[in-house]
Amino acid sequence: MARNIGPKCRLCRREGIKLFLKGERCHSVKCAIARRGEQAPGTQGTKRAKKSSEYGLQLREKQRLKRMAGLLERQFRTVFARAQRQRGNTGTALIDLVQRRLDHAVRMSGFGYGPASSRQLIVHGLVYLNGRRADRPSMMINAGDVITFTQREKGRELIKKILEGTKAYQQVPSWLERDETNLAVKVLNLPTREEYPFEIRAQLIVEGASK
Ligand code: SF4
Repeated sequence: MARNIGPKCRLCRREGIKLFLKGERCHSVKCAIARRGEQAPGTQGTKRAKKSSEYGLQLREKQRLKRMAGLLERQFRTVFARAQRQRGNTGTALIDLVQRRLDHAVRMSGFGYGPASSRQLIVHGLVYLNGRRADRPSMMINAGDVITFTQREKGRELIKKILEGTKAYQQVPSWLERDETNLAVKVLNLPTREEYPFEIRAQLIVEGASK
């Protein structure tokens, strides 16, 4: 499965904002954005930023969403095409679909350090959705779904370790109910657009992608 394996902090510096890709480090003084500010990476990073064109801004916003959610271009296009087919505002539908992905729910419930870690748990077969092993991070959750984890001791030790690490900073959103004893998560209801925890201007993405 294709994935972005480059340095994660570099992605944040490219976007000039925290994308929260590394778990605890993102909330500490070690965060590259906290240390170096919003300076872009590379030798050209210190140069005064050029004023972006409208298209440049739209493209940047799309990259931000992709990086926050851990999506590659092909995956983004699939989600965007699905959002376009839905009734109502495409930007809202896009964020709704991103939030309904299984990897997002795993991450938001504190069972993954960031998007990459959540995806990894799923593709390694450690995550179950309604009692069946989940095989794709892109699986869509519904209200009432229950996410559980492998019964294998080694896998459960890993999940517990992640949970211990994320508890300090990951607040479980109100649409999820986490059961720490049994290592399970219940989806109480689907999240709304307002509940997306990262700042994103979805309308800019829609304008850019619709051209
Ligand atoms: Fe690195 Fe996380 Fe800070 Fe981004 S938010 S620069 S991934 S530590």
